Amino acid sequence: MEQEYLHPEETLSRDEIESLQLKRLRETIARAKQCLFYWDRLSHVEPEDIRSLEDVRHLPFTTKEDLRENYPVGLLTRPVSEMVRLHVSSGTTGTPTAVLYTRKDLDMWADLVARCMYMVGIRPEDIFQNLSGYGLFTGGLGIHYGAERLGCLTIPAGAGNSKRQIKLLQDFRVSAIHIIPSYALHLSTVFEEMGLDPRSLHLRIALIGAEPHSEETRRRIEDIYGVRAYNSYGLSEMNGPGVAFECKEQDGMHLWEDAYLMEIVDPNTLEPVPEGEVGELVLTTLTREGMPLIRYRTKDLTSILPGECACGRKHRRIDRITGRSDDMIILKGVNIYPMQVEKVLMSIPEVGQNYLILLEREGYIDQMRIKVEIKDEFFVEDMRALKALQNKIARKLREEILITPKVELVEHKSIPRGEGKAIRVIDNR
Ligand code: AMP
Ligand code: ZN
Repeated sequence: MEQEYLHPEETLSRDEIESLQLKRLRETIARAKQCLFYWDRLSHVEPEDIRSLEDVRHLPFTTKEDLRENYPVGLLTRPVSEMVRLHVSSGTTGTPTAVLYTRKDLDMWADLVARCMYMVGIRPEDIFQNLSGYGLFTGGLGIHYGAERLGCLTIPAGAGNSKRQIKLLQDFRVSAIHIIPSYALHLSTVFEEMGLDPRSLHLRIALIGAEPHSEETRRRIEDIYGVRAYNSYGLSEMNGPGVAFECKEQDGMHLWEDAYLMEIVDPNTLEPVPEGEVGELVLTTLTREGMPLIRYRTKDLTSILPGECACGRKHRRIDRITGRSDDMIILKGVNIYPMQVEKVLMSIPEVGQNYLILLEREGYIDQMRIKVEIKDEFFVEDMRALKALQNKIARKLREEILITPKVELVEHKSIPRGEGKAIRVIDNR
């Protein structure tokens, strides 16, 4: 039988994982204290003080603001001359946050990514096209080096230039891809325009991630391309992709606990939430050399799935990211996550591949207007049919988000889309 695991770390038992974590947590604290920031912050802590994994709770959190304040190189444990790579978080506001890597960090990262890819069935014989942006974004080089480490022929196509993407997919009989979900949906419309069926390619596997997406979106992508699509979660501060990844079960993402220590906390009280409940994911790097981070607040909301995965791996699984604690919309006193809107829209067959949520103020009242692209075949002249569709969408949304948004049906491809992560909400209030 073919070997199912790429690395011995994947087969560790719970006990083995936890003792490895404890050892690595202590090492991480010792290492972190080599940078001024943590030397100061952790002045009262010695590695030996950590007796159990729960003791991590006594350590201070690290936030995005800490990274900003110490930009560009204030969190390094070694001189810049020992660093070999730099990435920047894709956040669009304020001072960027930079992450720097030593040679060893890059090596470990590539191993982690290769492990994820192997887990979902990608093999050295696969031809792999990376349709994610390269450059400062980690989804380019991060996935790229993982695929090369695995031994795949790796095509660094980058984002955009859809016609060329399609040509490469065809000409090289590409079997596995990495693509941002919103781009996967957009690309399908280009196939349509060219009169081509994505299912006629040789694709088997799609790695999708880097932005929140719903189960409905995943199914849509699987259906359009005739692939199995796997959710990939990561963030620059934790290297990039390769933090948590679905296995073939498609039932939650295994967070690689030999490399990251996870906690789920209540974003308001910062206390741990009861097991299985949704909270903010907090991560500590366990193997990173150049820029270790302790209790980094990701702002991403998720929960730990109970029980063990049918695949046998003992690394615990996190649920699909439901949103970020900072992207929650509060409208008329109701809390809404954009993912709820997406879930509803993507389950409606007439709805096309893109949408946009607009928040507006009319007089003293806040309104939500949602522009929804409609597939060509449903965008008919018949006003009554369109009106009925509009009402149906509004009603289904109301069932999920408890307020009735204004739904505006727009033509296929009329909502502009950039090359990176999709912008889903524009707040004009
Ligand atoms: P960046 O560091 O710029 O790559 O952005 C990382 C952020 O992207 C994470 O903190 C998440 O908010 C988001 N993200 C990455 N992967 C996923 C995923 N699979 N599902 C939902 N959100 C994701
Ligand atoms: Zn599994």
